[in-house]
Amino acid sequence: MTWESRIITDDALTAYAREPLTDLPVRVPALIQQQLATWPMLRNATEALAQVQYREFDVKGSRVLAQFNPARIVSTAAKVDTASIQARPCFLCAENLPAEEKGVLFGNNYVVLCNPFPVLEDHLVISEQAHTPQAIAPRFTDLLELTQAMGSEYFTLYNGPACGASAPDHHHFQACSRKNIPLFTEVENWPRDYVLRESDLEVFTLHDYRLNILVASGSKMDTIATWFHRSLHRLASLTAATAEPLLNLVVTYDPHHWMVYLFPRKKHRPACYYAEGEEKLTISPAGIDLTGVLVVPDPHHFARLTAPHIAQIYEEITLAPFA
Ligand SMILES: [Zn+2]
Repeated sequence: MTWESRIITDDALTAYAREPLTDLPVRVPALIQQQLATWPMLRNATEALAQVQYREFDVKGSRVLAQFNPARIVSTAAKVDTASIQARPCFLCAENLPAEEKGVLFGNNYVVLCNPFPVLEDHLVISEQAHTPQAIAPRFTDLLELTQAMGSEYFTLYNGPACGASAPDHHHFQACSRKNIPLFTEVENWPRDYVLRESDLEVFTLHDYRLNILVASGSKMDTIATWFHRSLHRLASLTAATAEPLLNLVVTYDPHHWMVYLFPRKKHRPACYYAEGEEKLTISPAGIDLTGVLVVPDPHHFARLTAPHIAQIYEEITLAPFA
């Protein structure tokens, strides 16, 4: 099946829309309703997510919600080495998607799809149509445009190819509902250490936070993009990266400014992921986990998780200092 036949027609979408079809904030909720009505796998996954268990932790004064989500084992324990990736059919290519899966266009070459393994409400995957490697440098402004187009109910994210993307060979972004995300509440009042304070761009870190983040806030796309590309170079040289430096990005847009959260990473998986016996915790953090919703697919690991474990995981995987 080609992308052309995957793009849902306006006629099919209209029946599920709350108002006349215009932009993504109308089209995406209509897509979600259409997919829930016609795709049992997504409906079951969405119902399971509504019943999912949480444990709440205080990690250095920050709220972290551990989510027991057994369906996520496919992603948490995904083999992302080159040989394993080459050996499997790509699950983001049009011809390999489940028959019921449909999407809406974003721009000329992206398709917004529902994620059948959701972690958050309205969990979407925004896949490039071409099978082309995950890489942010040529697409950072696409991410800003997407975030703006999705509107203020959503946040978007990017996981680096060696940093949580389970399809590093097929470029994609994600978007989710902003509801109940600890980071977005905490960023408003957390003490900030400013790196830059100019009229059209502010850059800061959160003081003594549970992990290291660089946050850029501004209303001009080209100013933010210049900052980002400079940061990417700096991060590459700091870590002697030969490919894209390890990072995750989370972005929000509210009229009329973006907030870009750059998480510089030291490594993909913490030591506890590889440990044996009682020490083992199958936790493999990507963008969502860094916002404070930590996915734990194993019931025993979920039960024995403590705040010091979580503090240790965040400490181990994010790079500091970076500014
Ligand atoms: Zn692909």
